[in-house]
Amino acid sequence: MTAKILDGKSIAGEIKEGLKKEVESLKEKGISPNLVAVQVGENPASAVYTRAQQKNCEKLGIEYELHTLGQNSGEKEVIDHIQQLNQNGEVTGIILQLPLPPGIDTIKVQSSISPDKDVEGVNPANMGWVLYGKPKLIPCTAAAIMKLIETAGINLYGKEVVMVGHSDIVGKPTALLLLNKFATISVCHIATGERGNLPEYVKRAEILIVAVGKAHLIKGDWIREGAIVIDVGINRVEGKILGDVEFEKAKEKAAWITPVPGGVGPLTTAMLLKNTLEAAQLQKL
Ligand code: NAP
Repeated sequence: MTAKILDGKSIAGEIKEGLKKEVESLKEKGISPNLVAVQVGENPASAVYTRAQQKNCEKLGIEYELHTLGQNSGEKEVIDHIQQLNQNGEVTGIILQLPLPPGIDTIKVQSSISPDKDVEGVNPANMGWVLYGKPKLIPCTAAAIMKLIETAGINLYGKEVVMVGHSDIVGKPTALLLLNKFATISVCHIATGERGNLPEYVKRAEILIVAVGKAHLIKGDWIREGAIVIDVGINRVEGKILGDVEFEKAKEKAAWITPVPGGVGPLTTAMLLKNTLEAAQLQKL
């Protein structure tokens, strides 16, 4: 079997086309989505993301501003700035660029973002709605993963799903969203790997999702015949970008697989834009 490709880039393109029309119709109703990214200090990695955010917003007609606070800003200063944005009726969405300088508690700062303006879904209130099965603004990568599974046309009910990686931003919210669809889900992490149990879990996955950040951690011959493989990992190795899954070998066994790059990444960006419109609607409609 050679897997069909879950082409995140083209799905993202379709979503963005739809969002562009939605922005127009929101503007006709007098609602103008306005996204503010907050970063502390200059960071070359962050600059790549903020430039991409700005370009995407411009294409869709969403206003975008980057607020750069000084490298030496303390936690209170960052939280005060976010609280001003919370109170500013013109601002409908807030993104906090990570990492923050040492000494600033990231979760504390994320918690200060108004839940209705939290377009990345990182505020504990938004995480909590995911837990209760009534999501509002969903963490963007988790939303992208769910969209890819939907594209493969899979009914999750009772399916054996294995999530490798349990980060707060990808693995945990994705596991909860899958659980809410009645998938049977195993979550693997560093301890699973250290006990040598990873192959055993991966081999039974009808749907495998990997978000670890270790190039080719998952071997192609572990993949179950006919599985759906969603590779979130982004690893720069000798000038190339590789996923967490051995793509070339895995695609011989899987039914569907995401490429890296061009799979989860572009769809995550599309979901950020989708959340930006949803946030504006939550506040203004
Ligand atoms: P993270 O916070 O570093 O989490 C990595 C997870 O992998 C942790 O749960 C860790 O467990 C687990 N892990 C580490 N080594 C392992 C092993 N040998 N076996 C099993 N599990 C292991 O990373 P993240 O933010 O979730 O991101 C993961 C990857 O996805 C990165 O490459 C990142 O660049 C990429 N990413 C891509 C997108 C996108 O849009 N495409 C979005 C977000 C992230 P412990 O915590 O227990 O050590």
